[in-house]
Amino acid sequence: MEQGSIPSPHILIFPAQGQGHVNATLKLAELLSLAGFKITFINFQYVHERLVRNTDVEARFSKYHGFQFKTIPVCRPDDPQRTERWRKLSVKSKPIFKRMVIESKPTVNYIIGDGVLGFVHDVAVEIGIPAIQMHCLSACSFWTFFSIPDVVAAHQLPIKGIPTIICHPFLNDLFIPFNCITYGSNLLKLKGKEDMDRLITKVPGMETFLRCRDLPAGFCQVSDISDPNLFFITNEIRKSQALIINTFEELEGPILSQIRTRYSKIYTIGPLHEHLKTKLRSIGKQELYSSSNSLWKVDGTCITWLDNQPSQSVLYVSFGSSTIVTRDQLMEFWYGLVNSKKKFLWVIRPESVINQDGDNLGEIPEELQEGGKERGYVVKWAPQEEVLAHKAIGGFLTHSGWNSTLESIAAGVPMICWPYFGDQQVNSRYVSEIWKLGLDMKDVCDRRVVEKMVNDLMVDRREEYVKSTARMQELARKSVSEDGSSSCCLNRLIEDIRLMNKKAYASDNDKDNLSR
Ligand code: UDP
Repeated sequence: MEQGSIPSPHILIFPAQGQGHVNATLKLAELLSLAGFKITFINFQYVHERLVRNTDVEARFSKYHGFQFKTIPVCRPDDPQRTERWRKLSVKSKPIFKRMVIESKPTVNYIIGDGVLGFVHDVAVEIGIPAIQMHCLSACSFWTFFSIPDVVAAHQLPIKGIPTIICHPFLNDLFIPFNCITYGSNLLKLKGKEDMDRLITKVPGMETFLRCRDLPAGFCQVSDISDPNLFFITNEIRKSQALIINTFEELEGPILSQIRTRYSKIYTIGPLHEHLKTKLRSIGKQELYSSSNSLWKVDGTCITWLDNQPSQSVLYVSFGSSTIVTRDQLMEFWYGLVNSKKKFLWVIRPESVINQDGDNLGEIPEELQEGGKERGYVVKWAPQEEVLAHKAIGGFLTHSGWNSTLESIAAGVPMICWPYFGDQQVNSRYVSEIWKLGLDMKDVCDRRVVEKMVNDLMVDRREEYVKSTARMQELARKSVSEDGSSSCCLNRLIEDIRLMNKKAYASDNDKDNLSR
């Protein structure tokens, strides 16, 4: 869609390599394609290969004029230090990416880089192309990371007695930087020395409820102030002057107001999956919507199984794409679920289960597969959006990844949170304490607690949670409707990009005229 004689802006979009990042960013790319922009979507090569193997993504996006995929062929550094891996990934990828931008045809007018890929923003600044960071994190976790220097200055970090992160030799196939750590209940026993319920009072807006245990694990829960992980995300996310965040005003308004004290331009355009669905419906193209941007093969048989279950009777259990659980933890969950006497649909990626030595089991324990048949259904990867929207689902036991949290909110499904690392610790605190959309089981993995929480969510306190989740679901829907907050923000983003493009075009023309 050209505007007059001005060519449509060409936008380069580059997500980080996690499933949640790729998923959300592809949805943004589709929304911007619908606005008539030319999009180049860059993936790390091994991520793209998996995406193509497991989805119809190339055929789907070929419908958009000017859309193309490109890949960056990084090798995968296997340094055991997480930040060191990330640094190496950035060092290797940056020159390749820079060359790609410089040589791009058509010329790149705007860059949307993932908030945790700081080098993308650095390249944009070096070449002089307008850029923005896209955050697949919640606003509350963004703000927590942002505020860490103040927390440190007030001596509220480090946390005494927290051990250095335990590294397992097991290498997850996909996730370079976060692949060798186990959190959750494993660390609880080791975190003995200091009271993890001590309040952190230097994150503005969270003074009364953010505890040490709610700080991002693996990054900010450190015993040593010189830990390289501590400022790592803070440094990456602070590069841009403007932000796109996959959230909505009605959910995170108070924290967004805090962020606005430091940023003048914030576009809150989430929940992105709901936004895209609504947009396609409004132009009569709902059949184009596909939730599947999966890096794993989706097992759709669970939908048939759900079709045969009573309404709101099933607990959906999934810990996302990068959580790793020990065999013991898995069995605690299994006993808790079975003892709760509720039906469950459980996603277990075989590569996500390790033994006590940190070795990958490579398969789901047999007794679990056999013993759970009566009440449960286990798959290796599910069509999660469809699952959460299914009438048989009554609750979600989740690792509190931001996409999973938003998908649950949009489907009106209450949650039990078992956060693993990073932003998930903050998200789960908000889900339980602020939004009252469920329960937080962080740092505990005990069959009796699992059983009790499942029964609280599905039976004893069901009414309370159904009420609050239905209200938030309604607000999420409104935010992406025609005049809703997220819809207006997306329109503003589109207009701002168009305006920038127009000005750049006019200035190039002036230069041409002068040089003649
Ligand atoms: N997902 C899925 N099928 C599954 C498990 C997860 O499609 O069996 C999707 C889910 O819908 C979400 C993404 O994978 O969009 C996970 O992102 P999230 O931010 O929740 O967690 P992460 O995997 O990044 O930790």
